[in-house]
This record gives sequence, C-alpha cells and structure tokens, in this order.
Amino acid sequence: MPDCLFCKIVERQLSSDVVYEDDDVLAFNDIHPQAPTHVLIIPKRHVATVNDVTDATVFSTLIVCARDIARKRGIADSGYRVLLNCNPDGGQTVYHLHLHLLGGRQLRGLG
Ligand code: 5GP
Ligand code: ZN
Repeated sequence: MPDCLFCKIVERQLSSDVVYEDDDVLAFNDIHPQAPTHVLIIPKRHVATVNDVTDATVFSTLIVCARDIARKRGIADSGYRVLLNCNPDGGQTVYHLHLHLLGGRQLRGLG
C-alpha cells in the first residue's frame, strides 16, 4: 500500500467521520469543511490523480455517490458543487483521488 493518508482512512488506520461506504467507495466528512456539507468521496482502490485514472467508470461512480448523498442531505434541489482538484495548480493536496461534495450554502461562482 502506498504511504497515503486516504488509504489509511480506508484501512481504518486513521479515523474519519464516514457518511457512506460500499465495496468500491468511501465517503467521509472533510476535516476542514468549506460549507455545511463538505464530503470527500474516494475510490477504495488507490489512484493518485485524475491523470492516473484508467477505468473512467470511477468518475461516474463518484458523481452518482455524491448525488445520492446530496439527496439524502436534502440539498439536491437547493444545489451543490462537485469538484476534482488535480495536481498543484488545481489545488490538490492529498494524492488519492477524491471528489468534493459541497453544499448547504450559496457557493461563489468560479468566473
Ligand atoms: P484537495 O485540496 O487535495 O482537493 O483536498 C484535500 C481535502 O482533504 C482538503 O479539503 C482537506 O481539508 C481534507 N483533509 C486533509 N486531511 C484530512 C484528514 O485527515 N481527514 C479528513 N477527513 N479530511 C482531510
Ligand atoms: Zn491512497
């Protein structure tokens, strides 16, 4: 296993506040939430960045998981954002692929 923070969360070597889990995916609350809902959704299998993904179904798996969590939290209609940061200029700080689900407040536009 790579020396990876999120792999350690998957393996329960580090604790996290899990909100959803299945065979392929783990979702847990971000430790420094930027919105009332800020959930990180990760594949259990280690892949470092968007650039390293070979099986693109991982993207739909993560997004569908985010959508379902948004529905359960009651923020699907008010709205939410899903975000993938890639490499330093994209703001990636943890090198295990993760989708941010942000919602529960008005988020600033990117433009
Ligand atoms: P990135 O900047 O790589 O897209 O996002 C990494 C995210 O992981 C950040 O939002 C950061 O707050 C979160 N994070 C970093 N370390 C931990 C941790 O140990 N536990 C949890 N739950 N989130 C973490
Ligand atoms: Zn990892």
